[in-house]
Formats: sequence, C-alpha cells, structure tokens
Amino acid sequence: MASSDPTRRAAVHGRLYARIPAFECIEGCTDCCGPVPWSAYELAAVGLDSPPPERADGRCAFSLAGRCDVHEHRPLMCRLYGTVEDLRCPHGRGPLVPLPAEAGHDLVRRYKRLNSMP
Ligand code: SF4
Ligand code: SF4
Repeated sequence: MASSDPTRRAAVHGRLYARIPAFECIEGCTDCCGPVPWSAYELAAVGLDSPPPERADGRCAFSLAGRCDVHEHRPLMCRLYGTVEDLRCPHGRGPLVPLPAEAGHDLVRRYKRLNSMP
C-alpha cells in the first residue's frame, strides 16, 4: 500500500536502486549527465522541490568539475544509465553482466509509479 511515510519512500527507492548492477565510471566523466527525471523523494533528498535547471551547455546542474555533486542521492536514471543492454555507456563502461532490456524497462515503469504515491 502506498504511503506518504518518508521511510517507506526511502525503502521503495532503495529496493529499485538495489536491482541496478554497479560498475566503475571513467574518473571525471560526466558525459551522460544531461537533464534526467527525478521523483519527489529524490528531489527532497537534494533539497529541491522541482528538477534543477539545465545548464547553458545542456548538462545537469549538478555535473560540476567532472563529478556529480549529489552522487549519493543521484536519481534512478543516473544509476541505471550504462547498466542496461539498450542503455549503454558511449565509452563502453558498464557491469560485467548488464541488465536485460526488459528488466531495465520494468525498473523504469516501477519508478514512474513512485511519483503517484500519495
Ligand atoms: S556511464 Fe559512461 S558516459 Fe556516463 S559518466 Fe560513466 S563513463 Fe561517463
Ligand atoms: S544528478 Fe549527478 S549523475 Fe545525475 S545527471 Fe546530474 S550530475 Fe549526472
């Protein structure tokens, strides 16, 4: 059952994040850091109530000095990029075993539902 309880929201996000395999990016690379979707919970975690404005160069406002300024709180799409068969890193980075495309699409479907949690 959906809830406005922040602890529950954290747990639901954490369960989705945990399904995403980890990998090492190229140090200092933010090449895939364009505008991304954020859930209300993720925005609150970085102290915002709407997505950060796009920079003049089209990059995410948090991609400063070759790193993500909110890495620990980056939203799901940032975590997912490079880990799915049809969402690969242009530099060939990614987990040894990427998620099948359908698993990635399922995560995105579930993620989209999070914003409708009351
Ligand atoms: S996924 Fe690839 S393009 Fe994106 S930051 Fe990592 S190394 Fe760079
Ligand atoms: S939140 Fe961080 S990882 Fe996500 S697009 Fe912005 S700078 Fe990149």
